[in-house]
Amino acid sequence: MAKSGKAPKLRKIPQRMCVGCQQVRPKRELVRIVRTPAGEVEIDPTGKRAGRGAYICPDIGCLNIAVKKDKLDKALGHKVSREIVERLEAHLSGGKSGED
Ligand SMILES: [Zn+2]
Repeated sequence: MAKSGKAPKLRKIPQRMCVGCQQVRPKRELVRIVRTPAGEVEIDPTGKRAGRGAYICPDIGCLNIAVKKDKLDKALGHKVSREIVERLEAHLSGGKSGED
């Protein structure tokens, strides 16, 4: 009997939906925001922190949509404070354009 039924192992790339534009993208291309068990909302660059997570494109436009429509709040089940939004803004816009 030939062993022909063995399917090659496909490495599945985890996909997540951006809370802003709702596009599904590979998880690693998105920024994870986590609500920790302690009830704090934080950016999770490692993607490994415990807690309820939401994903967003590294795009300030997506953040704006998410904030304006309370999508981030809903995704996390928690009100996201202005401070966190500002930190996210800095995180999403930083890195590329450094100092002025
Ligand atoms: Zn997006």
